[in-house]
Amino acid sequence: MTQHSDWFAPGTRCAVLTAEPIGRPLDYLAPDEGCFLGAFVEVPLGPRKALGVVWGAGDGQFDSAKLRRITRVLEAEPMREELRHFLLRMADYTMTPLPQILRLATRAPGLADPPGMRKVYRLGATLPTRMTDPRERVIAVLRDHGGAGFQLGELAALAGVTTQVVKGLAKAGAVIESDVPRDAPFVRLDPSRPGKHLSPAQDAAATTLRDKAGAFGTVLLKGVTGSGKTEVYLEAVAECLRQGRQALVMLPEIALSAEFLSRVQARFGALPGEWHSGVTQTERRRLWKACGTGEAQMVVGARSSLFLPFRDLGLIVVDEEHDTSYKQEEGVLYNARDMAVLRGSLCGAQVVLASATPSLETWANADSGKYDRVDLAARFGAAELPAMGAIDMRDEQIQSNQWIGSTLMREITARIARGEQSMLFLNRRGYAPVTICRACGHQIGCDHCDARMVEHRFQNRLVCHQCGEEKPILQTCPSCKVEGKLAPVGPGVERLAEEVAQRFPDARLAVLSSDLFASARALKAAIATIADGEADIIIGTQIVAKGHNFPKLTLVGVVDADLGLQGSDLRAAERTFQLLRQVAGRAGRAETKGIALLQSYQPEHPVLRAILAGDEEEFWRAEAAQRKSQAVPPYGRMAGIILSGPDLKPLFDIGETLARQSRPLQQIGAMIFGPAPAPIARVRGRHRVRMLIKAEKAAPLQKALAVWVAQVKLPSNVRLAIDIDPQSFF
Ligand code: ADP
Ligand code: ZN
Repeated sequence: MTQHSDWFAPGTRCAVLTAEPIGRPLDYLAPDEGCFLGAFVEVPLGPRKALGVVWGAGDGQFDSAKLRRITRVLEAEPMREELRHFLLRMADYTMTPLPQILRLATRAPGLADPPGMRKVYRLGATLPTRMTDPRERVIAVLRDHGGAGFQLGELAALAGVTTQVVKGLAKAGAVIESDVPRDAPFVRLDPSRPGKHLSPAQDAAATTLRDKAGAFGTVLLKGVTGSGKTEVYLEAVAECLRQGRQALVMLPEIALSAEFLSRVQARFGALPGEWHSGVTQTERRRLWKACGTGEAQMVVGARSSLFLPFRDLGLIVVDEEHDTSYKQEEGVLYNARDMAVLRGSLCGAQVVLASATPSLETWANADSGKYDRVDLAARFGAAELPAMGAIDMRDEQIQSNQWIGSTLMREITARIARGEQSMLFLNRRGYAPVTICRACGHQIGCDHCDARMVEHRFQNRLVCHQCGEEKPILQTCPSCKVEGKLAPVGPGVERLAEEVAQRFPDARLAVLSSDLFASARALKAAIATIADGEADIIIGTQIVAKGHNFPKLTLVGVVDADLGLQGSDLRAAERTFQLLRQVAGRAGRAETKGIALLQSYQPEHPVLRAILAGDEEEFWRAEAAQRKSQAVPPYGRMAGIILSGPDLKPLFDIGETLARQSRPLQQIGAMIFGPAPAPIARVRGRHRVRMLIKAEKAAPLQKALAVWVAQVKLPSNVRLAIDIDPQSFF
């Protein structure tokens, strides 16, 4: 497998890339045992040691006599060419220095530690000359079950002897003590086990995926929530495993995926590897290494699982591909969905993008024939899609400081009488989004950001949703010093819960908002009890939109369907459509038909009309036409430039200088907008100024941007970040 040119003989020169901010690989001498291209190594860097990857031949510029030697080669499979290539391409695409990208691929704590070992005891070849009862029992245990060996304590307990007895036997040579790697092996997944019996539609979809397996190609798997997409793509996983390759399934809310894991176990007879922030460091290291050897056949992971060093990745599934959490908005700015397609193209993997409400990017790629498309139209089994209706709030009876109109009140009351569940959806955490002083009109803002403080009555704090800053709830206005005049304005889920408690005093109420739970486990537990029917009314933020099954839920009330429609964001309509569609999909997942009702002051809005009409393709076509006419993504390209620093003026100065020296961008026909204060103009005490670049789809945007920004020298306290394909406009 490994070619001769991939080998660096002891003492030869090779280039090592580290995750340290140096910007390029440095030359070292290969260690005494030599090393392979791609090897994970430890190198001296100044007074420290750093983790690195052998990246290529040295460039020969630095005097050989002064070169330092690679300290050691780590116990891990060398990084394969496919992954090195992927990291390079990703660095180019996202305009991120390579070391920062490498860091994404080496985030396995303890990678540099020698592999953990433990002692095990097995049966030796000879029997002891002096035999006793306890010794007899130890030998019997080893003879009956001792193939792989036991740990000392285990063995002693099984035989009912002290550890001294075992050690005595080891000394006599009747028992052999040896070191084995501490990491337990992964249990094999068995793709030949029978899966669920598929419906004809599922079967057709699975066949299409299977036919395309084994090579790069992207498929949009579109189907309403509950249509059985998961079962279908598990068949693609099965095919991939049959071919002896590895499969990666990426999920947005990985911490909530216990249900998913048990479905994998039911299908393949063993659990997949898990990769996300909730996994212990030891487990992460174990999985990282097992991906490299090929022992881990399937990984279920969050965004960052895309950088695992798979030996032979044959399938990448991106579930809920439209989910905004695939876009990393801090550090390296990248979209894991897009990068999954890139990696698939480099390693010859099939890519499946699954969603009920795909992003317009993916929809357009399928529309143009660049991606294949497979549709699951109906829900699985008896479950039907909920009916949808709008409630025109201009006709509702409602008092001030109430948010549930008379129609929803009636519908909820009827559900409680029938023993069914209702859900009220409001995508706003906390008690009230704004606190205003009734004496002077002052609104409580964050000291560090250009954002309002949100009251969280449950935690008894004011919280900035931008930077996380907290303050106690105030009694006195910080502006006019008048006491007792501060009032909450508008609803958050906590306030909605208060209203429900007052108006339905006998109902059992559950509030689901990410900040109300101390851990993902607590949230998971709450979701499980709701699924068991332990609540009559569920109030939730957008975490309820994601994939939970509540069989008794037959009514979803969207408290404020207009909430997402206003923004200046080019994706406002798309996001509202996706979110409301997903939330509505929560109703009627089992046999009873559900209904989704949207409270709105503008029910004639085109987005709401499209949702209500249930004609999704019409919505996508209209939205696509609109974007096309403005030449914005996916029919044009964009890049965001964010300048941040402690003072505002220098940021504008730099922005204006850049805007004047626009030549490199003009040459590719790109347009520059700004500098302007970013919508959130201050975060954590740093001012933010934003520019937006628009270009044609085929324009070589990254190259032009690189030349353009290189024209200005930045002061050390100013940061310039480039966001290719920006998703949010913070
Ligand atoms: P989606 O991923 O499209 O939301 P799921 O795959 O989660 O849909 O399927 C919805 C529900 O229907 C799940 O509870 C699943 O177990 C069940 N289901 C789907 N397909 C089948 C099948 N072929 N046989 C039995 N149950 C199925
Ligand atoms: Zn803040």
